[in-house]
Amino acid sequence: MVENMTTPLLSDSEAPADALPVCLTSPTVAILGSGDFSRSLALRLVASGVRVVVGSRCVNRIPSGLFPDAVELRNQEGAVSQAVCLVFMAVFPEHYCSLLGLQSALAGKVLVDVSNGAEMNIHGPSNAERLAELFPDSLVVKGFNTVSTWELQTGAHDGSRQVMICSNSTEGKKKVVQLARQMGFHPVDMGGLSAAREIEVAPLHLFPSWSGPVVVTFLLFLFFYGYGFLRGILLPFLAQGGHNAFYRLALDLVNESLPAVALVTLALVYFPGLFAAWLQLWRGTKYQRFPSWLDNWLQRRKQLGLLSFLCAALHGVYSLCLPLRRITLHRLVNTAYRQVKAGTEEPWDELGVWRSDLYLSCGVLGLGVLSLLAITSLPTVGNTLNWREFTFVQSGLGYIALTLSITHTLFFGWDFAFHIEAYPFYMPPSYLLAVVVPCIVLVCRCFLLLPCIFTRLTRIRRGCESKRNCPVLQHHHVVANGIP
Ligand code: NAP
Repeated sequence: MVENMTTPLLSDSEAPADALPVCLTSPTVAILGSGDFSRSLALRLVASGVRVVVGSRCVNRIPSGLFPDAVELRNQEGAVSQAVCLVFMAVFPEHYCSLLGLQSALAGKVLVDVSNGAEMNIHGPSNAERLAELFPDSLVVKGFNTVSTWELQTGAHDGSRQVMICSNSTEGKKKVVQLARQMGFHPVDMGGLSAAREIEVAPLHLFPSWSGPVVVTFLLFLFFYGYGFLRGILLPFLAQGGHNAFYRLALDLVNESLPAVALVTLALVYFPGLFAAWLQLWRGTKYQRFPSWLDNWLQRRKQLGLLSFLCAALHGVYSLCLPLRRITLHRLVNTAYRQVKAGTEEPWDELGVWRSDLYLSCGVLGLGVLSLLAITSLPTVGNTLNWREFTFVQSGLGYIALTLSITHTLFFGWDFAFHIEAYPFYMPPSYLLAVVVPCIVLVCRCFLLLPCIFTRLTRIRRGCESKRNCPVLQHHHVVANGIP
């Protein structure tokens, strides 16, 4: 039985070849510093079967129970001398100089720099490069800074599993890669130590691909909200001498602006694709680069789509809340009271019923298809689809969602848009403004589906070029005319 327990569950052939030396020998690893990162790292290392010794400036100050019992606590010199080859520098880079006394003890050892950058745009060498300058006889490896203390504690089951690593020393990098694997992480080799700056600022990025789409969505919201405020509240208030409709600001106006933003944002998802297609048709080739603004726009389509979904979902929730409003109750009771008093009954409005049912149905279906698009944009779901399936969902279903959203808006508008009352102060209703861009997108898309245009675009996308752009013909022309 005892023998059975000592038999490894995984045979040697099943374990990754380069993970073996560390697994079998588990050499002692030192961590300098006893702060938050050190504690989480020590926990993870111990859980991975590694012997850990923590080096502190003042061991007595460390409260008992802060580190697991298996972790040995020593002064900095003691910890470094115990380390077989790996030493984690879990101190802030400002304090690296205070460790210069350990230079000779650290010579020949692998120093893992786990520090993050302090600012995004700092010039000069990275923390890791400065550490390498301070300890020229050690092998400095940058890594683990992109892993948070929470990810270290929850292990590889949750959170991101990637650990970016770079170093000028292949030997040092190999050792850290092996240890990262043993801890259950996915090491990503980023190359030499010059990549350290990029790795150090990686945790400082704040949704870099989201800023543009969020700003666009916010500006659109501001526009529709401001327009609605001017048209429906402020101008009537000024013109009619005190007709107060400011109560509409909190819910009505938000719910009026959200669908308009959702619709325009969804149209903006498909607009750059159409623009790119028309540009390729005009140029007669796909081998000329798009302008950078178009490139950026094409890369932000997913974010715009998700923001459109958010606005549409919020519009759905707001609309469901409408019957709960006090003003709705007030109007209902008052209308009923007036009808009872007048002895009249609300007439059955067949057309009105059709209008409201159609408009609600298109809205619900549009939101449903939009949710599908949002779900398939998740990497875990998107990765299960092949290219054709992904294109079908994102492009095919996307246009269906756009069409449903436009019809939802048009059914809402019904024939009111043809009445003069819909244009107070010569201002059209916001839903009319909101359908302009989506309608342009749909019309352009329909033109692209015309057989003559579709065939030409398909040929261009398969690599054919017009005579004016064909490099072979251009070459013949140059040779024939003797142009140097
Ligand atoms: P911390 O809690 O403040 O710990 C820093 C430790 O450095 C102190 O506990 C101290 O331990 C030690 N130290 C050594 N020399 C020092 C000196 N001269 N002055 C002050 N302290 C000194 O910081 P931390 O959050 O663990 O972060 C440590 C490093 O990990 C930083 O470079 C940080 O960028 C990086 N990091 C942290 C996280 C995180 O989530 N916290 C994530 C990624 C990377 P002794 O008193 O025992 O010597």
